[in-house]
Amino acid sequence: MGKRFDDASAQVGVAIVGAGPAGLVLGNLLLDRGVDCVVLERRERAAVVGRARAGFLAPGAVETLTRNGLGDGLLERGRTHRTCRFRGEHGEFTLDYSRAGRREAHTVYPQQDLVRDLLSAFVERGGDIRFAAPVREVTRGTVRLHDGGEVRARYVAGCDGHRGVTRAALTARGTRTARWDHGVTWLAVLAAAGPSMPAVGYALHERGFAGHMARTDTVTRYYLQVPRGTDPADWSDDRIWTELATRMRTAEHGPLRTGAVLERAAVDLRCDVLERPGADRLWLAGDAAGLISPSAAKGANLAVVQAATLAPALAAALAHGDSKGLDRYADDCLPRVWRAHEFSHWMSGLLHGPVGHTPEARYGRALQYARLESLRTSRAHQDHFAESYTGI
Ligand SMILES: Cc1cc2nc3c(=O)[nH]c(=O)nc-3n(C[C@H](O)[C@H](O)[C@H](O)COP(=O)(O)OP(=O)(O)OC[C@H]3O[C@@H](n4cnc5c(N)ncnc54)[C@H](O)[C@@H]3O)c2cc1C
Repeated sequence: MGKRFDDASAQVGVAIVGAGPAGLVLGNLLLDRGVDCVVLERRERAAVVGRARAGFLAPGAVETLTRNGLGDGLLERGRTHRTCRFRGEHGEFTLDYSRAGRREAHTVYPQQDLVRDLLSAFVERGGDIRFAAPVREVTRGTVRLHDGGEVRARYVAGCDGHRGVTRAALTARGTRTARWDHGVTWLAVLAAAGPSMPAVGYALHERGFAGHMARTDTVTRYYLQVPRGTDPADWSDDRIWTELATRMRTAEHGPLRTGAVLERAAVDLRCDVLERPGADRLWLAGDAAGLISPSAAKGANLAVVQAATLAPALAAALAHGDSKGLDRYADDCLPRVWRAHEFSHWMSGLLHGPVGHTPEARYGRALQYARLESLRTSRAHQDHFAESYTGI
């Protein structure tokens, strides 16, 4: 086991800020390589393992987790998803993407379950984690906590999400950011209701997009495109279910299974990428290094894969001063990141037509349907979609 960081004279190998998928994958992989590390997380443990967000794991992330002994839970309890269903004014069609492209499927496993598994594995490996330890500031290997405490580390790994302090520390040193705002907001709903279709459902509607994502037998995630600035509190359970029924065209395709709304949150579809995700002693992974809109469900997958790329690079630098992996980290990650952003961007264009009846809105929606028709009828398009949908 590594040094305890509350020993003021100790310097840990890596101080990891944030116990999300990126921080916990990184922590486990560093311990496997004999690197002493500490994870500093601002929330309480219960909040960390209770936060529902992602659910779709691509084969590359699943392979990374299982190869490193972190996939038992998802292999045991995850569900395989092979199809997605599109609904619009001309009816619906189901695309079996596991028969196109690289013939791959998704594993659906709630992010909070993955985080719980990663946390257990980290503690079993002897890992040191402190909850309710918000980091205030990071400067050259020193991490300062809000409670006045301090951790000294040879490297700091910023895994604290897109509003974190580590990203701010890096950009303050001149790292540039590329960013995009889709101008779209989703009301993200978590409902105590079993799935209403055997697949992911994407509904195009003149009132805006609606999405259905199965999570477990008893919980389903739904999305509704809403105006920017929407207050989730304005959306009662009844209003949510009525709007979902309209946009998912239940009159034509059958009713939705309804239940209590467990969570409702507004998510602005914004993206950004740091042009260099680290320098010197500070290296970032996951949403801290770049935010991707959830329209193609790539964020958690990128977080897992980036953390797995960063771990050996940090371990080599610590073990024998070999910084080649760190020097290469941006080049190893960014092509994959940009490929995911490109697909996510395309997906956002497919799902979000303009709302309303102006000539421009009608033009925009016609383009949306032309894209959908191409996906329905073109084998080449389906192959490309499948490869991008399951790839990271
Ligand atoms: C509604 C929604 C649905 C999504 N669906 C999908 C999906 O299906 N598939 C997919 O791949 N992705 C999805 N995503 C994206 C995915 O959830 C994120 O990309 C993923 O959580 C990123 O992991 P991370 O570890 O980088 O950051 P996070 O999960 O955000 O973890 C960061 C951690 O750092 C902690 N922290 C922050 N600041 C500090 C501080 N100052 N000090 C200490 N700790 C700090 C936070 O408390 C948090 O625990 C979705 C996102 C949303 C919002």
